[in-house]
Amino acid sequence: YTESVQKYVQQVFETVQKRNPNEAEFHQAVKEVFDSLVPVLVKKPEYIKQAILERIVEPERVISFRVPWVDDEGNVQVNRGFRVQYSSAIGPYKGGLRFHPSVNASIIKFLGFEQIFKNSLTGQPIGGGKGGSDFDPKGKSDGEIMRFCQSFMTELSKYIGPDTDVPAGDIGVGSKEIGYLFGQYKKMRGAYEAGVLTGKGLGYGGSLARKEATGYGTVYFVDEMLKDQGLSFKGSTVVVSGSGNVSIYAIEKATQLGAKVVACSDSNGYIYDPNGINLDTVKRLKEVEKQRISEYVSEHPEAIYTENCSGIWTVPCDIALPCATQNEIDQASAQILVSNGVKAIGEGANMPSTLEAVETFLENNVLFGPAKAANAGGVSVSALEMAQNSARLSWTFEEVDAKLQEIMKNIYQNSKQAAAEYGAPGNFVVGANIAGFVKVADAMIEQGV
Ligand code: GLU
Repeated sequence: YTESVQKYVQQVFETVQKRNPNEAEFHQAVKEVFDSLVPVLVKKPEYIKQAILERIVEPERVISFRVPWVDDEGNVQVNRGFRVQYSSAIGPYKGGLRFHPSVNASIIKFLGFEQIFKNSLTGQPIGGGKGGSDFDPKGKSDGEIMRFCQSFMTELSKYIGPDTDVPAGDIGVGSKEIGYLFGQYKKMRGAYEAGVLTGKGLGYGGSLARKEATGYGTVYFVDEMLKDQGLSFKGSTVVVSGSGNVSIYAIEKATQLGAKVVACSDSNGYIYDPNGINLDTVKRLKEVEKQRISEYVSEHPEAIYTENCSGIWTVPCDIALPCATQNEIDQASAQILVSNGVKAIGEGANMPSTLEAVETFLENNVLFGPAKAANAGGVSVSALEMAQNSARLSWTFEEVDAKLQEIMKNIYQNSKQAAAEYGAPGNFVVGANIAGFVKVADAMIEQGV
């Protein structure tokens, strides 16, 4: 029977490929989830009868729109805007907006698809969605970013709302952009609907610890994996790729737990600091001055800068936290990490490891925390922000952080349990996919076709 289920899953996957040509990232994300689900479909044939796979891979709605804006020279520019409203089975669509030149339908769909299962795993009532634009915020003035955000929201505002679809940040979208987007939404709607966006500034409905949540959450998840094996961050050497919001707060928490973080990166290259990364310098360079990470070495002469961002995986470490972007670890990099004795991986970015890289880690018994589980802290605290907005109150940093830790522990336990139940003990990729999927699938069945 397993064989015929495998064949069925392969057929559905081939239809996905045919219907969505040239969307490699989307195919990759679907393949990983589908492969994990074979034992579930064997045990629960009603999912096949109800065509859950066929339904879940097709977004409920894909919105694609023109974003015209005027640059500082007075030239008219045009970008593409997207919002994929993937699944509302267990709550309003929820997921970030990414502003990056690489953004296209494939990227937004892979992110939106993953978001369904990630959001389900958090235990919060949130559906899956994602959006963004191929707009490149790098090198743009504040005025240009504001005008772009206003144009983007003028169109997007027709499709979102606190009970419909709640965007947040992702790569290229931080609290500044969320502020401009919220300001425009308010004008378009003529009402103060604080819960329409998350990641807002603290003065107008944002949640304490939202900024820290993704990075802290990744470290909390890895800490659970380590503790279960009698290991810990204390005294370990850690490499964290990226130097954006996820990376910075992963470095901060890992350091607080007694690790030495020796390397981080940006899209141009990476720095290696044998004394441990000075996070104040990274925060100032990246959050305030918007500099390249290469500037770090002028203040810390003991550090070395190498122009080649994927070279960061050659730095020997006990724990690697990929927190930059998709497919940043390929099989060759995974192989190097394994030969250098890496013990644990925690994916802070979305789909940072290729399918072959994941295979390499699992085959070599490296503890592997997949993105859907390990980076779910960000969207979890977004859901807590929505809850605070609905109740018109705000919790303290300590309250939110305590809830985040609890959520990450539950995600770990649920992933571990699902993996064991379906015959793949210790495989958190399978466990997270299954635990996230089952809740959504059951809700779909209960709600009818
Ligand atoms: N962009 C983040 C993610 O990938 C956060 C989404 C959110 O807070 O809605 O999960």
